[in-house]
Formats: sequence, structure tokens, C-alpha cells
Amino acid sequence: MKKIRDLSKKQKIIFLVTLSVIGIIVIAILTCILFFIFTAKQNEYSTELMEDDNIIEENNKIEEDIMNQEKITSEDSEPEEENEIITNAPSENCTIKFGKLMLINPNFTVDNDFIYSRRGELVSISELYGIEEGNPYNGDNLLDPEAATHINDMVRAYETDYPGHTLETRSCFRAVGTKCGRLCAATGASDHHTGLTCDLIDPVYGTSLDTDYYNQHIEWQWLKANSYKYGFIDRFPEAWAGGPMSEPLNVDENGSTGLYETWHYRYVGISAATDIATGKYNNGEYDSLEHYLKAHGLVNDLKNGTCE
Ligand SMILES: [Zn+2]
Repeated sequence: MKKIRDLSKKQKIIFLVTLSVIGIIVIAILTCILFFIFTAKQNEYSTELMEDDNIIEENNKIEEDIMNQEKITSEDSEPEEENEIITNAPSENCTIKFGKLMLINPNFTVDNDFIYSRRGELVSISELYGIEEGNPYNGDNLLDPEAATHINDMVRAYETDYPGHTLETRSCFRAVGTKCGRLCAATGASDHHTGLTCDLIDPVYGTSLDTDYYNQHIEWQWLKANSYKYGFIDRFPEAWAGGPMSEPLNVDENGSTGLYETWHYRYVGISAATDIATGKYNNGEYDSLEHYLKAHGLVNDLKNGTCE
């Protein structure tokens, strides 16, 4: 091969032109390759963006669906408050899902898991509202938060109507049952496991829980007449005790409780309390929670502890 300097002038020009042409072609090819790579990347990116857009659009649609669903649900649901579930505590008892209307008695029992889990959902009414627990052995007076605000309103109304008087608790929530015969319920069968109940007394009359003695005083009459306005009921009225107190404890299929406790007040919400106190399903006479739940169609068999 000849060296460049040995080429003639014409050959040198042809060589340079050829070299330039080759150079231009190479640059053109490289430009094309880069262009294709860039375009491909762009397409990939816009596909990703489109996918993102689709995801955002899909999420928006799901959120819209949820909002519509909530709207339909809230339009469909009745304004009544009683079936709202207020506890996540586990139990086989079918009434637990009734929320404030939950029924615990010897035929509708709960297990220890329920009792200990329920305790975690409660607040102290002595800490929150200064309502005293009269018996130091009972520990803190724990109550469901909604029931707690209502019991505070009720106690303040009582104090206003009877200056110099107040209401104290003699235990609200209880983790264990009591053993004192007919007046007491075993662990798993006590209304005090609901976190919606307090035994109430006016300390002016002493601290003894004597049904007949307590019955003579104004706090019993005031509570019986007014508590439903605050969502509370006389949980074990005399008329539903099912006979003299010497008989054995018996919750029957008609709704008799087997108990008579003038101091035992239970939160069920204002709507249900009004129905129970005004005897909506009991010819205008004070109802029992058991009878009310059956008449209301929520409980199927009071004796065997089954729901509809
Ligand atoms: Zn009680």
C-alpha cells in the first residue's frame, strides 16, 4: 500500500473525499442509533406515566366508590343508636354485637378473654369526672366512654335537684363475679362485665346495699323516674324479679331476671332506655332488658341464650 505522501494530488483529493463521506455516514448512523435509544426511553417513560395515571385514576375511582358506598350506607341506616357495635372484645355470646344493648346473664355468658379485653376499652369515671367509688376494695370505677359522659350528666342533675346530695358508685365494671346467693352473678354471667353498669348510692343514707332500705329514699325514686333521660335503666326492677327474693336465681324465657337491685343502673342509650322505662313493649310498665330484647326481635331464646 502506497503512503499518502506518495499519492498524486488527484488521488489525495479522492482519498480525503472518501474519508469525509465515510465519516459523515458513521456520524449519521451513530445519530440514528442515539435517536432510537432516546425515543425508546421516552416511550418507556410515558408508558410508566400512563400506568401511574391509570393507578391514580383507579385509586380515585375506588375512593369515589367507597364514598358513595358510605353515603348509601348512612342514608340507609336508621338513626337509632342501639345496634352500634362498641366492643371488639371476643365472645361466643351472640348479644355482644348489640353494643350498648349487650346482654350478659346466666343464660348469655361471656368468657375471660371478653372480660379482660373489655376492661381495656373503659375509662375511669372518678379520674374523669370526680365520681367517687365508695368501696376501696372495688378498685377504679371503670365505664364505657359514652356511658361515662352520660353518668356524669345524670349525677350533676341529681345534685342540682337535691343540694347537698350526690351519687357514688359501689363498683361499675367487674372482672370477676360475686358469690352471695341470689343477688349475685358468677364470673361470666354478671351485667357488671359489660362496662355499661354501675351500682349507685347516695352516701347521705349510708353505705349499706340494702334493697328495701334504699327503696325508701329519694335517690331511688329520682333515679327510677329520670335515669332514662341519660340513657340508663333500672336493670333489675322488682316487677321483673320473678317472685320473692328467697327463690333461686332464674332468668326465664319471658324476661324475668331473678334479681331485684334498686341500686343497679345500666346504660343502654337514650332511645332504648326511653322504650324500656316507658314500657313500649310492656303495656306502659317498666320493662326488663331481657324482655325488651326479645320483644324487639333481637334475642330469640332467652332461656337457651340464642339470637335471631
Ligand atoms: Zn350491680
